[in-house]
Amino acid sequence: MSARVLVVDDIQTNRRLLEARLSAEYFEVLQAADGHECLALARSHEPDIILLDVMMPDIDGFETCRRLKADPVTRHIPVVMITALDQRADRITGLEAGADDFLTKPVDDVALFARVRSLLRLKVVMDELRLRHREREADAEPDAPLQGGSVLVGGADEAGAQRLADKLPEPFVARAIADPRQAAHLAVGYDLIIVDVSSPRFDGLRLCARVRSDAATRQLPILAVVEADDRRTMVRALDLGVNDVIARPVDGGELAARARTQIRRKTYADALRDRLEESLEMAVKDPLTGLFNRRYASSRLGQALDGLAAGGEPVSAALIDIDHFKRINDTWGHAAGDAVLEGFAARIMREMRAIDIPARFGGEEFILIFPGTQANAALEAAERVRAAVARDAFASPEGDLNVTVSVGVAEARPGDDVEDLLGRADAALYEAKAAGRNQVVGAKKKAA
Ligand code: GH3
Ligand code: MG
Ligand code: MG
Repeated sequence: MSARVLVVDDIQTNRRLLEARLSAEYFEVLQAADGHECLALARSHEPDIILLDVMMPDIDGFETCRRLKADPVTRHIPVVMITALDQRADRITGLEAGADDFLTKPVDDVALFARVRSLLRLKVVMDELRLRHREREADAEPDAPLQGGSVLVGGADEAGAQRLADKLPEPFVARAIADPRQAAHLAVGYDLIIVDVSSPRFDGLRLCARVRSDAATRQLPILAVVEADDRRTMVRALDLGVNDVIARPVDGGELAARARTQIRRKTYADALRDRLEESLEMAVKDPLTGLFNRRYASSRLGQALDGLAAGGEPVSAALIDIDHFKRINDTWGHAAGDAVLEGFAARIMREMRAIDIPARFGGEEFILIFPGTQANAALEAAERVRAAVARDAFASPEGDLNVTVSVGVAEARPGDDVEDLLGRADAALYEAKAAGRNQVVGAKKKAA
């Protein structure tokens, strides 16, 4: 994975050294000699990751990081702070400034590339999500200071896991668990899982892999606990998709700060994902009834017809039109009409199989698509819907209203396009109306 790395250090030798090593791995390297230059380059050149020295004159690394994270244009760029000593206080200050990770000087190649790769993987996902939104406001990170969250802690034994859990201050809610199999299932719904990968008695890496591969927990951040000198495990953990690593002996303040960073990031990603789902949903759904819209139904029907033409399964469709709907509007008002449309949608949802596709085709006209279904079964299903509508009155702001529907049903013939099939269903619907409404009519078997 290649990417553009911005190296920030006031000492030229340090910059050159890092540049040489990153270039050898085919990263594109930019250099900045101080905080101001870093901020300018971050804005103008959109690096994928920033390696930021802490000790710099004028504005130091912490302040630079704070400013990067406060700017909507640069806040999504991962920042790795490079500290001179393995100073706990520095790490916590850095995490609070919004740093994504830390490396200690002298920077070890293996650790450097593992961290960089792991952060880049995350950035690729986040960029993709942000791109799909485009709206600027999607960049607004939740501003409310995040204090805690629910955390599952997996370790070799209950007591060890509990000791880690106890390091998280309130309002974190942490639960300890010693069975890795159970842990993967239990993790669903938590904000973070902390996994001890430092014990030979507990296959923490396997647990991490399972959490990453299960659909229900794929988005759950993982923080792994490693032995300080066990670089091999740390790199394997990061390569497995662990989001962050903390070294033993575990400092409570650092654990809490790292946990908060992960949870904040997850909250942000979840919000982006929700908004994405919402906009996808709006593209295919009718806002009033929550049923699919005409465009979506037509495209699904088209696919089913293509399948049939290729020798696949049968498909039938029912067009449903509410009887004398205009009268409901005229007598009781538009709001009552809307209430009937919504109530009708709810009734169809109850009567349909999960694979059938109900859609609002327009106004007071609906379509049901029955994949894998021949005319007889579709007629039965349509009759169930008709009866369910006629059986009980509909609640509306104007009181209970009696409503009926007429339905035309047609089964697709190989070679039909959407219009052919719906034309026959519509002709049958017209017959149902002409014959007195509140009934289901099947299309003629053969074209006249
Ligand atoms: P028929 O039994 O022959 O189907 O008679 P009808 O009155 O149901 O049919 P018509 O097509 O004459 O009238 C449909 C009415 O549905 C007209 C239109 O104003 C109303 N309508 C369409 N969309 C909506 C909507 O979203 N909300 C409400 N309240 N009314 C709507
Ligand atoms: Mg009508
Ligand atoms: Mg109509």
